Amino acid sequence: MELPCEHKKTVVLARRDGVDYVECVDCKQIFEAEDLEPVTVDADDE
Ligand SMILES: [Zn+2]
Repeated sequence: MELPCEHKKTVVLARRDGVDYVECVDCKQIFEAEDLEPVTVDADDE
């Protein structure tokens, strides 16, 4: 069982077209720094 990662620790991997791609140090997930949203699809609560 794994706790959901909050991606508090991130490092910038690359910048492309003004978008920073960051990787979470804890879970190694890669996403765009702009929306800080994991690439994987999750519940869409609003
Ligand atoms: Zn994470």
